[in-house]
Amino acid sequence: MIYLDTAATTPLDPKVFKVMQKTFLKNYGNSSSIHKKGQEAKKILEQSRKTIAQSLGVLPEEIYFMSSGTQANNIFIRGILQSSKKKELIISAIEHASIHKLGEVLKKEGYIVHIIPVDKNGFIKEEELKKKLNNNIALVSIMTANNETGVVQDIQSIATLCKEQNIPFHTDAVQAYKKISFSLKNITACTISAHKIYGPKGAAALYIKKGTKVTPLFYGGQQEHALHPGTENLPAIIGFAKAAQIQYPTKKIEHKKQYFLKRITEIQNITLNTPERSLSNIISITIEGIEAETCIKHLSKKGICISAGSACSANSIHPSHVLKALDLTDEQARATIRISLGKETTKEDINQTIKHLKSIVSILRKYDTYEKRNC
Ligand code: PLP
Repeated sequence: MIYLDTAATTPLDPKVFKVMQKTFLKNYGNSSSIHKKGQEAKKILEQSRKTIAQSLGVLPEEIYFMSSGTQANNIFIRGILQSSKKKELIISAIEHASIHKLGEVLKKEGYIVHIIPVDKNGFIKEEELKKKLNNNIALVSIMTANNETGVVQDIQSIATLCKEQNIPFHTDAVQAYKKISFSLKNITACTISAHKIYGPKGAAALYIKKGTKVTPLFYGGQQEHALHPGTENLPAIIGFAKAAQIQYPTKKIEHKKQYFLKRITEIQNITLNTPERSLSNIISITIEGIEAETCIKHLSKKGICISAGSACSANSIHPSHVLKALDLTDEQARATIRISLGKETTKEDINQTIKHLKSIVSILRKYDTYEKRNC
């Protein structure tokens, strides 16, 4: 199996699995219990919080464990809006579905949601953002790195603009975390998720700057300062902390990406949607005239896993809002595939993928020409 879909999720690192396994069997206490087993679990929970906080350069009490990046984005954005009297929000045109769709719902609820466009490379048009920043804005949320093209924003520049106007700024760093270094200076909140960094599904974290008021969406116990009540998923959290301690080999993966980019030019009429300033693992390409779905199914039969657009919209026939924001036509968006490399990807994996891609593209294009001639 050649797995080139790490932007959707990563396999579990065996070192992470080992610590989780131990926790499942030994540290089964509820961290809210005051007896020995409970306190043992509490200690592990707080150690994990400290590890995640250190990886972001923030305080442990500023870390709130969540169950997924999607949940963290929703809890924070809705929570801060409910704490504010202001009714306007700014997001970008290329946010993940957990923010993009939330924006659509908030609009229906009466909020004014400003959507900042991006240029053809996917970079936020900062001039447009500046025009929208004013006293009525409750929050700006712009992702650090995009899940479909890998484009990396100048998040510090955006954070400074927000700070100058005293507007809270949240960034979804689910794809960026551990893959690039970024600072949380002037950033009010940030979302990260374990399963994108060789950690388990079911654990994520929200950094919220001390003193920020966020109204809870759920009610129950006092877990996670009552912002995410419910018994913690300790095995997943400890797995998350372990994954955060393992170095991500960005440079090595970047070399593989450059090799892939060199080899993909052997296919005619392709467009690269991933700009130079992007994550080391993500490549988005449009192969003119070739439906992504056909490509994916063909490669899957050969044991190669890639994706169309983002994983979350892979079952949707609608071209993704991200690709449309880059000015791709519907047809181009449908002909776009996403390859996402991992630390386990080898040069031979890339060679095999290129070989099979070339073959399917050649067959489909010949068929297309034949069809056109005989119609
Ligand atoms: N934000 C981005 C940029 C993502 O890529 C994803 C997942 O693909 C999410 C948020 C949601 O994270 P989770 O899968 O943990 O809900």
